[in-house]
Amino acid sequence: MTMVIEQLKFEGMDDKRPIVIAGPCSAESREQVLRTATELAAKGVKIFRAGIWKPRTKPGGFEGVGVVGLSWMKEVKQTTGMLLATEVATPYHVFEAIKAGIDILWIGARTAANPFAMQELADALKGTDIPVLVKNPVNPDIELWIGGIERLYRAGVKRVGVIHRGFSSYEKKLYRNLPLWHIPIELKRRYPNITVFCDPSHMGGKRELVAPIAQQAMDLKFEGLIVESHCDPDNALSDAGQQITPEVLDYTLSMLVVRDNPQTTENINVLRKKIDEIDEALLSILAKRMGISKEIGIYKKEHNMPILQSGRYSDILENREKQGAGLGLSTTFVHEIMKAIHEESVKVQMEIMK
Ligand code: PEP
Ligand code: MN
Repeated sequence: MTMVIEQLKFEGMDDKRPIVIAGPCSAESREQVLRTATELAAKGVKIFRAGIWKPRTKPGGFEGVGVVGLSWMKEVKQTTGMLLATEVATPYHVFEAIKAGIDILWIGARTAANPFAMQELADALKGTDIPVLVKNPVNPDIELWIGGIERLYRAGVKRVGVIHRGFSSYEKKLYRNLPLWHIPIELKRRYPNITVFCDPSHMGGKRELVAPIAQQAMDLKFEGLIVESHCDPDNALSDAGQQITPEVLDYTLSMLVVRDNPQTTENINVLRKKIDEIDEALLSILAKRMGISKEIGIYKKEHNMPILQSGRYSDILENREKQGAGLGLSTTFVHEIMKAIHEESVKVQMEIMK
């Protein structure tokens, strides 16, 4: 299905990057919500986020305050004029959030990974025109992410955007959730006008990673940031380690370099022309290499030899990685390229064997 997804516009806001949504991971108490919101509003934040229902990995932890939190958010709107955003995971959440006057909904990463849940939400949202932001599913599956968006779109929810919050991995190293930037980049290639937010809080999982990830998102031309901010992060009931104070958020935002010069200069054009020429040369060299693979395939067939010769593939990978490293190319990059080339060669030779 072709989806025409337009850039989201928020009431009273211009298109200046980044569009910032900020607020605590969870609404915890009336005081915490109002204090955080007031401090954020004073720093110029226009959209306030808070989790009312929290999807927790294990039971027994803080699972959100529930609907009472929505009344605190309502007060935020009355006192600060900020727009309100919260997470919905069930039709009941949608119903309650809309009833409370929430302006923007987001769908969490765990929910986005479940087509049944996405369909139920899409059905519940039928006939509304509230903007909905779909977080990437926890697993790195772009089709699943798009499938979720499409369920909403088919239900008539046309004001959709996305939040890139990174992907789960078995090993937790630097990031809580791996960025895998190529996934949102591909999404943007397919839907050029889709509004993309980055969630550096859940991606990094640590306060000190918020700023560098936010900068990377700006460099990749993401439209917005959704950042967890709490008036007293150390004592937060959820995600304490990744929340920052409104003060630190303000400083972080002020340090961002937003490169939005639309000009294409002559220098860039000259360099791009060089790239085009090099790509052309690369392609003709690849074609030449495939031609030789074909010849080898014919030889193997005539001499009754198998396509795969033990050791040859490993030798190629190892040698090319070394040669590449000598030329300043990363080993993973050379590895991926040689793997793709080898796969194609094998395919070509299998055709010959038929
Ligand atoms: C959140 O934004 O509070 C949240 C639960 O995020 P995610 O769905 O990305 O884990
Ligand atoms: Mn959180």
